[in-house]
Amino acid sequence: MSNPKLALESVTRGFLQGDRQIPVLRSVSMTIGTGEIIGLIGPSGSGKSTLLHLAGLLEKPDNGEIKLSGQACNNLSDKRRTYLRLRELGFVYQHHHLLAEFSAVENVIIPQMILGNEKAVAVRKAEGILDELELSERYSHRPGMLSGGEQQRVAIARALVNSPGLILADEPTGNLDPRTSQIVFTSLIEMSRRRGLSALIATHNLDLCKQMDRVIRLDDGYLFEE
Ligand code: ADP
Ligand code: MG
Repeated sequence: MSNPKLALESVTRGFLQGDRQIPVLRSVSMTIGTGEIIGLIGPSGSGKSTLLHLAGLLEKPDNGEIKLSGQACNNLSDKRRTYLRLRELGFVYQHHHLLAEFSAVENVIIPQMILGNEKAVAVRKAEGILDELELSERYSHRPGMLSGGEQQRVAIARALVNSPGLILADEPTGNLDPRTSQIVFTSLIEMSRRRGLSALIATHNLDLCKQMDRVIRLDDGYLFEE
């Protein structure tokens, strides 16, 4: 594949339990092309979140290499990894993780503020993304005043505000009812497609996987193409 956005090369990761090392990812290799949207499935405990944490540069593999836009990331400084995370990656989790005391717009501009961008510009950008997500009437609402689906769409806006190249989503509709799941999921896919983003989305919902370019499955520490 020319020009992969993300590449995992023979990645392994295990966790110490007592004095035993439990392997979670035994050997995982994969690439995500630019603009490619991939579903990640596998039973609970199969290592989906672990894989996403590694891809998101939140953790390091025990062995193997992780490359983001061709750059090997294992040996980068923490500062550089943090910067890449902020610039290149957008995260969406099962829980929205919005700050309760802040409005929708204020939540969405946080990553822009951390980058040091001007507030007025950040607010315009945030409002534009919220408009795209049909949340124009919700700018000043706090998370507690939003429905579950709206909260998750605000979280999607926050993931997009720094114009990342890759979205990493960990069961982003896991807390939502089927109808709301469909709406939120379609929003995430459409927003990603419109921007030509790559995405890796862990889900248990095989129906939603139909909207993806490709589905991969984790099983017993190995990755399989569906
Ligand atoms: P999934 O997201 O597919 O449900 P996880 O990646 O969360 O799976 O977990 C895979 C396995 O790794 C589980 O057995 C889990 O208990 C273990 N695990 C994950 N993170 C840690 C950690 N920080 N310390 C110890 N064990 C962990
Ligand atoms: Mg998980």
